[in-house]
Amino acid sequence: MQADILAALAEALASGAVDVVDLAQPLEPATPVISLPPDFGQSQPFRLEQISHYDGRGPAWSWNNISLGEHTGTHFDAPVHWITGRDLPDNTLDTIQARRFVAPANVIDCTEACAADPDFLLTPDHIAAWEATHGRVAAGSWVLLRSGWSHRTDPAAFLNAGADGPHSPGPSPAAVTFLVRERDVIGFGTECVGTDAGQAFGFDPPFPCHAGMHGANKFGLASLANLDRLPPKGALLITAPLKIVGGTGSPCRVLALAPR
Ligand code: MN
Repeated sequence: MQADILAALAEALASGAVDVVDLAQPLEPATPVISLPPDFGQSQPFRLEQISHYDGRGPAWSWNNISLGEHTGTHFDAPVHWITGRDLPDNTLDTIQARRFVAPANVIDCTEACAADPDFLLTPDHIAAWEATHGRVAAGSWVLLRSGWSHRTDPAAFLNAGADGPHSPGPSPAAVTFLVRERDVIGFGTECVGTDAGQAFGFDPPFPCHAGMHGANKFGLASLANLDRLPPKGALLITAPLKIVGGTGSPCRVLALAPR
C-alpha cells in the first residue's frame, strides 16, 4: 500500500500532475537580514568568496566559501532559537526528527489586507473565516501567512523600517495561542523577514510567534516566496534545514508538492 502511494506520487511528479514549487528566495549578498537595536548582537549578511574559478587557484574546478547568519533569507527556525524552547527535547537542527520536515500546508491569503495595512495582524477570526471555507487546520500542519511581501524586491521596502521600528504583518498573540493550543500546528510561516510582525517587540508577550511556537516545540519559516502558487489547502511542504549541530536555524530550500 505504502509503496503504491509512492509509485503514484512518482508518476504524478513525472507527468506534472503534481508540481514542485520552490518557496525559497535567491540567497545573495543583497538578501535582506533582520537588524536589531545597536545594543544587541547582529546577524551577518550572506557573503560569498571564490576559492577558485577554473583558474590558477584551481584549473578544473569552481567553488566558493560562504558565510552567513543562520537566520538569513528563506530559513527554518528551530525551537532552541527562543528562550521558551531552550530546554525542550530534540529542539536543535541536528536532533529534530526528520519526519517533522515533511508536513501539509494551509495558506491563508491576506494579500489585500497587508497591502492596505503593513501592520496587519492575523487573528483567530481570520483563521475561523478561512476554516469556514477550507476546513479545519489539521494537527501537525503548517499555517502560512500569504501577504504578498515577497514581491517587495527592494530590501528597504521588504524590511519597511521606520524610526519606530519595522512595519510588516504577522500573527496576533491570540492567533499564536489558538494555533498552538487549539490546532497543534507544526509551525507558522511567513513571507516576511521573521515570523513575528514588525512591531511585535512591543506586543504582550513580545515576539508572540517566536515565544509561543518555539515554547511548544514548534517551528518557523521566514522569507517564503511563491505562496501565490499554492492552493489554500493540499500542498505538502518539505522544509529540511542544514544539520548544524546545536543549530538554531538554517537557510532552507523550502519545497512544496502541490497539485497543478
Ligand atoms: Mn529566524
